[in-house]
Amino acid sequence: MQEKIRAYLSEEQPDTPLLVVDLDVVAARYDRLQAVLPDQEVFYAVKANPAPEVVRLLQARGASFDVASAGEVDLCLACGADPATLSYGNTIKKRADIAYAHERGVQLFAFDSEQELEKLAEAAPGAQVFCRILTSNEGADWPLSRKFGCDLDMAVDLIVAAAKMQLEPVGVSFHVGSQQRNPAQWDPPLAQVAWLFDELAEKDIELSLINLGGGFPAIYRHTVPHIGAYGDAILKSLGRHFHHRSRQPRIIAEPGRYLVADAGVIATEVVLVARKAYTDDTRWVFLDVGRFGGLAETEDEAITYPFTTPHDGGPTGPVVIAGPTCDSIDIMYEHTQYHLPLALTEGDVVHIHAAGAYTSSYASVGFNGFPPLRVVCI
Ligand SMILES: *Cc1c(COP(=O)(O)O)cnc(C)c1O
Repeated sequence: MQEKIRAYLSEEQPDTPLLVVDLDVVAARYDRLQAVLPDQEVFYAVKANPAPEVVRLLQARGASFDVASAGEVDLCLACGADPATLSYGNTIKKRADIAYAHERGVQLFAFDSEQELEKLAEAAPGAQVFCRILTSNEGADWPLSRKFGCDLDMAVDLIVAAAKMQLEPVGVSFHVGSQQRNPAQWDPPLAQVAWLFDELAEKDIELSLINLGGGFPAIYRHTVPHIGAYGDAILKSLGRHFHHRSRQPRIIAEPGRYLVADAGVIATEVVLVARKAYTDDTRWVFLDVGRFGGLAETEDEAITYPFTTPHDGGPTGPVVIAGPTCDSIDIMYEHTQYHLPLALTEGDVVHIHAAGAYTSSYASVGFNGFPPLRVVCI
């Protein structure tokens, strides 16, 4: 764990559950991503962790923002962001929210359907728009497939339609799936984007923007390639598919998880350790945080957080790890092998690592009377 978070937790002994975010780690991640992908612009996907401290820090470092709602537009503007640095990347927007963002100066919007384009033409006339295409999401631990994007033939037609509707079609976006463990997964969509650039050029539409999406990984229990491998693979693909062009495209990336996940630790208290039968070796460990308290990405046990306890080093045994609410889906890990110390007991504080992304923003407002996950940024 980061020394700064360890010191904070041991000095303050705060009430649990609590997410502690080390802003130095967020800053270092931002700088590293810029180093491995030079000449690209970073649009932070605000939904990963909307703490104002995180948004302000990234804004001060020169980041732009990927937003998905009027609330996220307001948050970024309140944190000092220039509306021209916001990309409204959700392809499913309420008409009123499009108008709201446009009135506040947001210029760039995503679409993947004709119906959405019609809303944009009416509520954000003249805006710059980009088309999101479908990708396979193979290799991703938290896929975003199916719900977003359109196929290539449809993308051609929609981009032509956008120009006819007095919108300014500027480019194409995709997302290879979140927690993408294979850096080669950016290549197929980049080949498709290159094909689209060529198709549209034949129709006298010059596209200039490539949005690489997110997908850059955090370090959970599985090993993942170094971020440099992602930079190399993407730069190589860009070179392969775009080197022959007279005008180099504007490249943007939208990291969420990579910037904030490893910066956060959740401190949680053991509420109960119990067995279901005398003959059963597996202990059930109930924590004061669970599916509804922010660990929503444990659905299907997709994201496997590393845990540490005060008894690490002693003998361990198999456990099921569950949350405190009266809902039986509030079980984090039942099929994934987790072993925790036999000495673990009620009142122990357990640390959940790499928990800075998609946790506080996923916590329920108070299911079963448990308050939403508190966040402190240090
Ligand atoms: C959620 C999201 C991201 C961030 O994805 P990560 O995998 O967390 O980096 C980027 N772009 C869009 C459009 C998103 O919805």
